[in-house]
Amino acid sequence: MPNLTNSSRIEPTRTQSSKRTALVVGASMAGLSAAAQLTDIGYLVTVVERAPQLRLVGTPIDVRGEALAVADKMGILDAIRRNKVSSDERPVFTTFVDASGHAVAELPLEMANDSPDDVEISREALINILHARIGSDTKFVYRDWPVALSQTGQGVEVGFAGGSSANFDIVVGADGIHSSVRKLVHGPEHLYRKHLGVYYAIVDLPSGALGIVNESRTYNCPGSMVGINDYGDRAYGVFAFRAPETEYDYRDMAAQRDLLTRAFRNEAGWHIPFLLDAVRDAPDIYFDSVSQVRMSGWSQGRIVLVGDAAHAASLFSGRGTSLAMLGASILAEELDASNHEPSVAFTRYESRLLPVVRKAQEGVIEARDFMVPESQNKINERNSRFPLKSLRH
Ligand SMILES: Cc1cc2nc3c(=O)[nH]c(=O)nc-3n(C[C@H](O)[C@H](O)[C@H](O)COP(=O)(O)OP(=O)(O)OC[C@H]3O[C@@H](n4cnc5c(N)ncnc54)[C@H](O)[C@@H]3O)c2cc1C
Repeated sequence: MPNLTNSSRIEPTRTQSSKRTALVVGASMAGLSAAAQLTDIGYLVTVVERAPQLRLVGTPIDVRGEALAVADKMGILDAIRRNKVSSDERPVFTTFVDASGHAVAELPLEMANDSPDDVEISREALINILHARIGSDTKFVYRDWPVALSQTGQGVEVGFAGGSSANFDIVVGADGIHSSVRKLVHGPEHLYRKHLGVYYAIVDLPSGALGIVNESRTYNCPGSMVGINDYGDRAYGVFAFRAPETEYDYRDMAAQRDLLTRAFRNEAGWHIPFLLDAVRDAPDIYFDSVSQVRMSGWSQGRIVLVGDAAHAASLFSGRGTSLAMLGASILAEELDASNHEPSVAFTRYESRLLPVVRKAQEGVIEARDFMVPESQNKINERNSRFPLKSLRH
């Protein structure tokens, strides 16, 4: 039972209970999956999320491989399939265009997917499905985050930025690539996060923007890429540019907008000016370094990491969400199987998941070079390898 002091915001989920308690830090794919499955095995869960609400921005993501079985086990596979965004009428993953917008090459969908069973779903839909799957016993606290974690024989004493503190049996750090749980427990980010030489950004667009309907178009300049992905009812602008690791506050959206705008300031090809206007006007954008997190272990005592906090594979892997769902599932299975003995469960969780993670982390440099070629020659080479096949151009 969380034992609370000075609590204005983090409160016990129940006043009287003999249930085990878990704090899940971060309410995205990993955190929501963990919260649902820890509740299933009898934990009283508190979720703390730094943002003021669930963050729904982002392009559709893939649920693939073993994550489909996890979704089935959680009873949400049908809902996920019903919300699938791509369809057979959209056989091309993306069409590459030149500066005037003429189609010059295309990547067929089957080359981007692992199997026809893969489901592409909007981040918003998946977050909402996972959130709805969580029982009403689970307490959500927004605009707060842990600033101190100290382990006692009985649990983890957590101090929160909002001034409260509470004790939990276990703490699950699901707070993404810049995880503060990882920082508090394992040390500074630079020890584990490897920048892959590219920054990436997403902005919401009005659907059907510029007459691009139910398709994806991508334009490359040497070392950068912009795209418009329209899914009929939602559309997104995407940006990627090569740059060495840059110091900025990754929670400061104005700084992110500024970095992005500066990276494209000398480019006016295709619809870059339109996309930059969208970045300026959007209430929320997603901007981050394309990075991987590599650690040899993800736990210490009663504190464990899941999802990108533990093992980001980078968006070029297309597997971040699936790994987060799978990891949360293995974690819950092992806690249950070990009679809730964290040291046993967390070691088993690590040894089962690590080989899957390492496999997902391979091959991303190739995907990066394919999507963001570094020179005009490399762009031309890529385009000639993937000539237009569809009749619709
Ligand atoms: C807003 C957003 C948009 C994204 N868009 C894309 C995309 O378009 N394409 C793509 O491939 N991947 C995207 N991702 C990343 C993708 O969601 C993850 O790679 C993957 O799903 C694994 O999820 P995760 O839950 O481990 O991490 P994340 O999805 O990164 O979630 C981490 C969560 O923790 C919260 N958080 C961070 N720090 C703290 C803290 N100190 N205390 C409490 N909460 C904290 C964050 O606000 C976030 O909700 C996006 C992530 C976010 C947060």
